[in-house]
Amino acid sequence: MRKELEILIEMQKRDDEISKLQVLIENLPKQLSNLKKNVATAESGLKTVKEEIENNKKEEDKLELEIRSNKDMMGKYQNQLLTIQTNKEYKALNKEVSHLEKKNEDLEDEIVELMEDQEDLRVNQQGFEDDLKSAKQELAENEQRLENEIKEVNKDMEVIRSERKELAKELPMPIVKKYATLIKNRHRKALVYNIGNTCGGCGFMIRPQVMVELHEGEKILFCESCSRIIVLNKED
Ligand SMILES: [Zn+2]
Repeated sequence: MRKELEILIEMQKRDDEISKLQVLIENLPKQLSNLKKNVATAESGLKTVKEEIENNKKEEDKLELEIRSNKDMMGKYQNQLLTIQTNKEYKALNKEVSHLEKKNEDLEDEIVELMEDQEDLRVNQQGFEDDLKSAKQELAENEQRLENEIKEVNKDMEVIRSERKELAKELPMPIVKKYATLIKNRHRKALVYNIGNTCGGCGFMIRPQVMVELHEGEKILFCESCSRIIVLNKED
């Protein structure tokens, strides 16, 4: 029985390792994909803001063109004013000219607004460019390391699993089954040590008779509350 206990202790050590590796196997790829996501987010933000700047510029060009054509028109009207005969015609033309003047003032205001927007957009662009630069740098600094670590932990996991499998072969099938059920149902802790006269897994009090047997170390003992295998804590 001592031999079986020793094997169970070794198996639990492997399962403790497996728990640690599982955390890494879950987290490392997440870290890597987050770094890649940061680059993609900055890239798409930069693309959007560049498009906005371009649209803003196009709109400004369009308004500039409109102002120029209004000015051309005003020039023509002003020439016509010189040759006009009737008061009525003069008034009508003059009204046209002031209408165009007013329109150009509004267009100028719109352009000023567009230019202010443009300034904000440039600030945003700079922000995304900075983000992109640091996201790319962070990815470059960590990508290879994370990929290596991911390979490494997967390899370690394989080794440890096969070690545990080999250990299990040395135990009777019912004990292996019991152990496996506990691993599955007790947060990967099938075997625990006593803490004083309590179970190290759930804190349940161990009866004096069981404590005696625990010290003898001849039997596989189970906690009467959580069913885990209890082994004597030699440092206690
Ligand atoms: Zn317990």
